[in-house]
Amino acid sequence: MGLLDGKVAIITGAGNGLGEAYAKLFAREGAAVVVNDLGGARDGSGADRSAAQKVVDAIVAEGGRAVANGDDVSTVAGGENILKTALDAFGRVDILVCNAGILRDRSFANTSEEDWDAVIKVHLKGTYCCALPVWKWMKENGGGSMVLTSSTSGLYGNFGQTNYGAAKAGIYGMVRVMAIEGRKYNIRVMGLAPGAYTRMTSDLPGRQGREPDPLSLPENVAPGVLFMVSDLAAEHSGKILGVSARGVREIKMVETE
Ligand code: ADP
Repeated sequence: MGLLDGKVAIITGAGNGLGEAYAKLFAREGAAVVVNDLGGARDGSGADRSAAQKVVDAIVAEGGRAVANGDDVSTVAGGENILKTALDAFGRVDILVCNAGILRDRSFANTSEEDWDAVIKVHLKGTYCCALPVWKWMKENGGGSMVLTSSTSGLYGNFGQTNYGAAKAGIYGMVRVMAIEGRKYNIRVMGLAPGAYTRMTSDLPGRQGREPDPLSLPENVAPGVLFMVSDLAAEHSGKILGVSARGVREIKMVETE
């Protein structure tokens, strides 16, 4: 008996780090998983679609069910094809975790138009592109749960991340509106602020060279996200939940820490 028995989950950017940890845990909990990842470097260059397949191979080796998808989340066609991958392989979708992301950290003065567009496109437009087709399917098929990855960077700010912070604050806005609209269709939408030390956060100013905090490794964040997508969180929608090995807590916009 797993928490996600009989469910189908799509996880974007699941070839590395957090998404990989979610995919492996969800599969262990009984879900069939679509592992999406375009692959490549942290700044979004050099697509390498083998990342998703490696995670699928590891899940299948453990006796789980998973299928790889290498589409770009930041295009409408990519989002539609990710849903198609789920429907072709497993016939339905119950859970979406929008996790794919890139970083182009620069001080505001040094943020080029290209850095701005690239980060907004993958995070903010990418969340729209992936969530919309799944939303339409869930609306006609009894609902489901979505976790859209936001960040404390979008709520409190973080040096060198105007583009990323803007995208993550925008995702918070999406969560609020989609949760209101989703009530009618039994679609729960939650924002996630992962307290994780990952490939994406390990290069942030002030963090280079620091040892990862074991409490914040992706494997320790994944159980909180499992809670969010499962029926255990049936009462939660429209919130940003901060998740680390220290637990799950609601994050309010007014906090300033
Ligand atoms: P974190 O663990 O903090 O989420 P990672 O960089 O390890 O950070 O994971 C983000 C994932 O998102 C990477 O595996 C990356 O390949 C993937 N990704 C980035 N851009 C896209 C995109 N446009 N479409 C699909 N996946 C993407």
